[in-house]
Amino acid sequence: MSNLTIAIDGPSGAGKSTSAQALARRLNLAHLDTGAMYRALAAALLKDGLDPSNEQVVLDNLAHYELTVEFAGPDQHTLVNGRDLSPDLYSSEVSRGASDVSRYSPVRAYLVNKQRELAESQSFILDGRDIGTVVLPQANIKFFLTASPETRARRRWTELQAKGEALSLEEVLADIEARDYQDSHRADSPLMCAEDAHVIDSSQLSFDQVLDRMLDLMKAQGLEVTA
Ligand code: C5P
Repeated sequence: MSNLTIAIDGPSGAGKSTSAQALARRLNLAHLDTGAMYRALAAALLKDGLDPSNEQVVLDNLAHYELTVEFAGPDQHTLVNGRDLSPDLYSSEVSRGASDVSRYSPVRAYLVNKQRELAESQSFILDGRDIGTVVLPQANIKFFLTASPETRARRRWTELQAKGEALSLEEVLADIEARDYQDSHRADSPLMCAEDAHVIDSSQLSFDQVLDRMLDLMKAQGLEVTA
């Protein structure tokens, strides 16, 4: 395999995207946020008045949605039928919708295929739930980033507060626990740690410390981290 691929998996709010972005900047690599792809599909369905939790509705309409990903420097733009939905992906409604659509195998097959095509085109850091287990089991290095549900809920609550979404910490925690359950118990590609992944618990670590740990593990594995 000529392209370098780095897989970062873990539950919501563990800091995957932030760490992946920081690692991408540090190593001058592209970063693909695969969660944004599930979110974009859910956002497109919701905009069209369709219910992302209704399997039949989602599967009947999947063929009408063409999802593409574009990169502008470090920024990922996720488009559905040519429309950039990136600004609309982080509401609680879209988070739940993404977890809903991600249960359906045809949705996963469609997006996993796109993720593999991208990873074949150049070196990438991919973050998601199933990168090390399903999308790229041959990735050069795999990280499984986790943190306690309380830590993850507090981080997410702070983000939502900044955006003006008035949810209580308890509601955010309940939402995270429900998504954890759904993501870990779906039949197709449930969230799980690959056997050969390096587990990093970020509960007591700053993002700089997470980044340093990833770089150390890469060095220890003989991967080039000098960029
Ligand atoms: O990572 P993020 O929270 O943005 O992902 C949104 C949802 O998309 C997750 O709750 C999960 O259900 C789904 N997802 C997935 N597989 C991925 C990435 C995300 O099932 N590789």
